[in-house]
Amino acid sequence: MSRGAGLTGRRPYRHYYPAALLTAVILVGAGLEACGKTPEASRARFQAMGTLVEVSVYGEDAATADAAGAEVEALFDQLQQRWDPWGEGELGRLNANAGGIEPLMVDEDLAQLLDGAAAISRDSEGLFDPAVGGLIRMWAFSSEELVPTSPPDAEKIQQAVAAGRPLYEIWRADTRQLLLGPGTAIDLGGFAKGVAVDMAIDLLRNKGIENAIVNAGGDLRAIGRHGDRAWRIGVRDPRGEGVLAAIDVEGDESVFTSGDYERYFIFEGRRYHHIIDPRDGYPTPGVSSVTVIHQQAAVADAAATALFVAGVDAWPRTAARLGVTQVMLVETSGTIHMSPQMEDRTWLIPDPKPEVNIQQIPAL
Ligand code: ADP
Ligand code: MG
Repeated sequence: MSRGAGLTGRRPYRHYYPAALLTAVILVGAGLEACGKTPEASRARFQAMGTLVEVSVYGEDAATADAAGAEVEALFDQLQQRWDPWGEGELGRLNANAGGIEPLMVDEDLAQLLDGAAAISRDSEGLFDPAVGGLIRMWAFSSEELVPTSPPDAEKIQQAVAAGRPLYEIWRADTRQLLLGPGTAIDLGGFAKGVAVDMAIDLLRNKGIENAIVNAGGDLRAIGRHGDRAWRIGVRDPRGEGVLAAIDVEGDESVFTSGDYERYFIFEGRRYHHIIDPRDGYPTPGVSSVTVIHQQAAVADAAATALFVAGVDAWPRTAARLGVTQVMLVETSGTIHMSPQMEDRTWLIPDPKPEVNIQQIPAL
């Protein structure tokens, strides 16, 4: 996510992890399908929030598509600066006040973002918790510049977990105030990309564009169609270079994936990745990726992170609490868990087929 104002276009962190160069979800219009009959969508590409953003527009002239792409780029740049946890913007200001005496009042934009994040933090019973920013920093996953090589001291992790309070407990929505404890911070890395994608889609719609995809590093929201067919997207195989599943998306849907391959290091044969369980302060074991389809990108983004932390056994309950019905969870063993609503529309690519376990999302 937003790893520092001024980092636009630079991804030093990724140089250390060649596997991370592939995006989680790939537009496969050009890959899986021999297309050529339908005219290609126009695309604008730029770097923002630590990832490659692609705006594809179908059925508009090039000038309209280019202008829209430029506006989306400006929007992402602006949001990246405002929501950088360690920068000069509003969120940076809030985090810099951690350990202070007086709570800070935040501007309306950030308040809205925190309202949304706090609601998902509560609904996920704290599994999604942007208040883990201190821990993320301790693990050195908070910056593109830092390259973590070993886990932090176990005692420090324990202390941070014990001192941590979830966002939904500390955010005072009525007065727009927040006071963070010493060493704690808000990190919107699991949410802000989704919010930005939603805002970008609103922007495109306000310009009269009806068929488009905003794809931020493989996480995307699609509206309309690609001419006479749906938009076809691919979900990356978390342990390979290829595509694990293809899904047709049309109307208005978001597809977001959280994975253990985006930011990680191997220490003494174990993989440590950037999705941290707020209950123990360690990366959630056993899961390599979670993909969620939901209309709103912000919900899909946060839900993918929450269900990743919920893990192999608990994800259906957390999905139910978040009102999410389409989920695919890939275990580190390769076994795939899906809700029936996801299985219905998913085309698994690998041959032989991986083991698949269909799990109902319970009614609560
Ligand atoms: P990806 O970057 O792979 O799309 P996510 O959307 O899950 O994955 O975002 C991961 C980021 O979310 C981390 O880099 C960190 O900034 C933040 N994060 C990590 N653990 C949590 C958590 N339990 N709750 C909320 N945010 C988290
Ligand atoms: Mg997320």
